[in-house]
Amino acid sequence: MELKICHMYPDVLNLYGDRGNILCLRQRLGWRGIEAEVTELPIGEQASLADFDLIFIGGGQDFEQEALLADLHRGKDASLRSAIEDGVALLAICGGYQMLGNYYETAEGKRCDFIGAIDFHTVGSEPRMIGNYLFRCGDKSGGSTVVGFENHSGKTRLGPGVEPLGWVISGHGNNGEDGTEGVRYRNVFGTYSHGPLLPKNPAFCDFLLQTALARKYGSAELAPLDDAAELAAHDEMVKRLQV
Ligand code: GLN
Repeated sequence: MELKICHMYPDVLNLYGDRGNILCLRQRLGWRGIEAEVTELPIGEQASLADFDLIFIGGGQDFEQEALLADLHRGKDASLRSAIEDGVALLAICGGYQMLGNYYETAEGKRCDFIGAIDFHTVGSEPRMIGNYLFRCGDKSGGSTVVGFENHSGKTRLGPGVEPLGWVISGHGNNGEDGTEGVRYRNVFGTYSHGPLLPKNPAFCDFLLQTALARKYGSAELAPLDDAAELAAHDEMVKRLQV
């Protein structure tokens, strides 16, 4: 078995070591004898995104989000929309997550029109929502708890009927007001959780891998791994954040 992974915009969207998520995906596949072929797709290059099994997009500051707009609308937008409709698994973080929606209006009033693959939008606000946070994924996303780190000005509002990835236990999530975190659509997982999201949350990582493998091979049982160290880190943060 093999997964073809696309790392979209590794040149501009890579805050707090978002790239570590690619290492984690590759490692957890490798431990199970499953190959991973990772292709980087920076500004200026094109690819048919529906040909991949899993796409990863990291986060970025307003500056980077504005800098990639022209490139995004030179074909990657349509390619990404059709990959999403085709059911390609996709993990998008913060600025990358915002990019899947209709638009992001920064706190300074600059509007970035994004790809509109999923009905939601984001509006910048003060103060920024910063800190370690905790949420529980919905049933369609495996139901595990996720410990993460968020740092965003944007408040995201999901359109009517659009499902969140999960529900905030502690912290802000999409907007600090309605209790939702991220988005879940077809095989898309969008979240505000930066940095080592997948290493700290092995159950969530495996759910994502299973989603991509099941789409490609019909069914996928992932062999269990010894996650004692990962779960100790996860559980310690759950303990700290739950009080
Ligand atoms: N620039 C966006 C915001 O502040 C996204 C930030 C990020 O990816 N950390 O909302």
